[in-house]
Amino acid sequence: MKRVELVVVGAGVIGLSTAVVLAEALPLCRVTVVADQFSPDTTSDGAAGILLIAQFPDIPVERQTRWFKDSFDHLLAIAQSDQAPDAGVMLTSGCQIFREVPAQKVPFWSELVLGFRLLTERELKRFPQHCFGQAFTTLKCECEWYLPWLEKRFRKAGGEVQHRTVNDLRELGGSCDIIVNCSGLRAKALAGDEQVYPVRGQVLKVRAPWISHFIRDGDGKTYIYPGVHSVTVGGTRQEGDRRHEVDPTDSESILRRCGLLEPSLAKGKVLAEWVGLRPGRRNPRVEREALAMEGGGHRVPLVHNYGHGGAGVALSWGTALDTLGLVKQCLHEMPLQARL
Ligand SMILES: Cc1cc2nc3c(=O)[nH]c(=O)nc-3n(C[C@H](O)[C@H](O)[C@H](O)COP(=O)(O)OP(=O)(O)OC[C@H]3O[C@@H](n4cnc5c(N)ncnc54)[C@H](O)[C@@H]3O)c2cc1C
Repeated sequence: MKRVELVVVGAGVIGLSTAVVLAEALPLCRVTVVADQFSPDTTSDGAAGILLIAQFPDIPVERQTRWFKDSFDHLLAIAQSDQAPDAGVMLTSGCQIFREVPAQKVPFWSELVLGFRLLTERELKRFPQHCFGQAFTTLKCECEWYLPWLEKRFRKAGGEVQHRTVNDLRELGGSCDIIVNCSGLRAKALAGDEQVYPVRGQVLKVRAPWISHFIRDGDGKTYIYPGVHSVTVGGTRQEGDRRHEVDPTDSESILRRCGLLEPSLAKGKVLAEWVGLRPGRRNPRVEREALAMEGGGHRVPLVHNYGHGGAGVALSWGTALDTLGLVKQCLHEMPLQARL
């Protein structure tokens, strides 16, 4: 019996989450991940991996809430299992602080994280530059551990992996029935999507095991996130900046800004500096289209899942589940012969 061939382009947190969801839900399909970068070389590998999101402007709040909730619940189950250390997922408590009171004091995700509350006056005294804050428990997912863990789970579900560059999605159309595009920032070229742009981020890994609570400035540019092996301190959000090199001025600025929030960081030891380019887009693109092959006649179903900006980890499982729904729609519309 001929199996339906699904190809997922991309092996970052979006591609691998999607591949696992597809392979486990559709055992009659063969799922192959095709990518030219795998862990530890993807953008996802260096992400701070905190589960926190800002609202996207044109996506119904119910849909974004579901993306975040599905991702949170999936990672919470891992954090509370014996898989937690292997998968690099942990619960983390701390606060988000603001220099001005935000329009939404209680954000739409407040009921999805755990124990959300506003900071008290007494707690805020610690941050003299800030006048408002929120305390909650969320998750941290460290992709340098999580991606190999996902890849193992994918292979266990019968998935296959190919290392190669795809120059044109139509290359894949001849040998597969459905293409799933999880190419992140490079979707700009691969899907011809002019809305995709880089948002450069620089972070440092610091050894400071005494720091156990996260602190994040509400502007999203300054944060201290303790993790399993080190503390991630950041950061920068430089739109349109394609530089992959570490900028010493950025590192200096990060350490100064974070030091104002957590003076004991000065005693920490910098272990590494890292730069990644977030796949910026006004909204993530999770939708389907039909890819016209050379010559016009033949069309291959194509499902996109990219453009998650600074929230790829936080939305990975939720958008993977939506992608599964879209792939199922494509399968139902395929001629019976192709499905068998
Ligand atoms: C400094 C920094 C901090 C961050 N912190 C957080 C955070 O705390 N929380 C959070 O949720 N997110 C965070 N992010 C954002 C997160 O890293 C991204 O949203 C996420 O990594 C995007 O994942 P992705 O799988 O789409 O892309 P990537 O990880 O870039 O993966 C893309 C994949 O596609 C493959 N690919 C692309 N084009 C081709 C092609 N033509 N041929 C073959 N293969 C191809 C690549 O090889 C790669 O495997 C942060 C990002 C940065 C830079």
